Amino acid sequence: MDKKKRILTGIRPTGSLHLGHYVGALHNWIALQEEYQCNFLIADYQALSDHFQDTELIKKSVIDVTLDWLSVGLDPNKSNFVIQSYVPEHAELSMLLSFVTPLGMLERNPTLKGELDSLPIERRSAGFFSYPISQVADILLPRAHLVPVGEDQAPHLEMSREIARKFNRMYGEILPEPETLIGKVGRLSGTDGKGKMSKSQGNVILLSDSEKSVEKKVRSMYTDPNRIRADIPGKIEGNPVFQYLDAFTNNDSNVKDFKERYTTGNIGDVEIKNYLSKTLNDFLEPIREKRSYYEQNISIVEEALDKGINNARIMANETMTLVRDKMKISSYKKVW
Ligand code: ATP
Ligand code: MG
Repeated sequence: MDKKKRILTGIRPTGSLHLGHYVGALHNWIALQEEYQCNFLIADYQALSDHFQDTELIKKSVIDVTLDWLSVGLDPNKSNFVIQSYVPEHAELSMLLSFVTPLGMLERNPTLKGELDSLPIERRSAGFFSYPISQVADILLPRAHLVPVGEDQAPHLEMSREIARKFNRMYGEILPEPETLIGKVGRLSGTDGKGKMSKSQGNVILLSDSEKSVEKKVRSMYTDPNRIRADIPGKIEGNPVFQYLDAFTNNDSNVKDFKERYTTGNIGDVEIKNYLSKTLNDFLEPIREKRSYYEQNISIVEEALDKGINNARIMANETMTLVRDKMKISSYKKVW
């Protein structure tokens, strides 16, 4: 194995990527590629947890996510792009770890609880309930040291550390306890201001949205609901328009001025929103250009996946040989 410390992190292929992914995850990933051996996982098994009825979307999104990754500057020559189901050891390790995971650990997981509550009852599968275990397996399979994620994933990382500790104590020290690294904006709000920007909530601005679509989405964004006229002082906290401005500018003098005028009732929403649209479109334009290049050169995308998957298979095989040996699974022949 490479001497560098390893990273494992991933995204579910349940739609194209959005601004929340950029500030919460991708921004960090891009920088970490130099220092770490990075493994970026497209978690298609995990996508089935609440999208088992929409496998066409998952299939399409695998390539969309890969295109988004390439467009923002993840580099398949430095890092491994991996599709989870092409390395079935993910499923094997997840199954084995499910036996050492206490039920209460899943029942107490706040992210899982919240997600289950908002999932229609007919989509609450046993697989969904146990998806955090599959995530633990994803992290432990390449024996990752660091996992850069958004804030919502912190409980799953805590679980990964506990399970690694328990495994090591019971069967022998082979699994590093992974550390968590939260992105520069741990939780970017949705355009509706209701919660985090999420593929499943339809409150997203996509990295692949057109200029017009960005303008339209920004125009109808949630702002301070009490501010029904431009001369009423408004609130900055909890206002996604300002959260986006903070995330995508360096709090430049225009933004400082907008904040001042907003809190004193001296500016209309339209002026700020126009500035936000322009800021976002300036940020997205080079990403769109790169995306269109890769769309026209799809063999580069396929080669990136082939290479990453091959490397992941080698790592998975190493880890599973150790795990099976420590758990005394697949080792009966020796005693016959
Ligand atoms: P879904 O709604 O289908 O769960 P999602 O938008 O939450 O989709 P994931 O694939 O679950 O996307 O998340 C991938 C990574 O991006 C995770 O590390 C997650 O923490 C991070 N992330 C997702 N949304 C945000 C957000 N709004 N702000 C910050 N980080 C985010
Ligand atoms: Mg999510």
